[in-house]
Amino acid sequence: MKCGFCGHEFNVDEGKQGCGGCSGGCHSIHCPRCNYKNPLEPVFLGKLKKILKQKS
Ligand SMILES: [Zn+2]
Ligand SMILES: [Zn+2]
Repeated sequence: MKCGFCGHEFNVDEGKQGCGGCSGGCHSIHCPRCNYKNPLEPVFLGKLKKILKQKS
């Protein structure tokens, strides 16, 4: 995935998930370079985007 802040591309496994520092539990992947909290894109959202693309 690509960091939304610094644009650094990294593997989801490389990112820090469940850092313990986020309030309410960490459900994001932190960039290994800048520690930006990248929101996880739910799988269904990606499928929805594909469907919308096909229609238009
Ligand atoms: Zn970053
Ligand atoms: Zn976190």
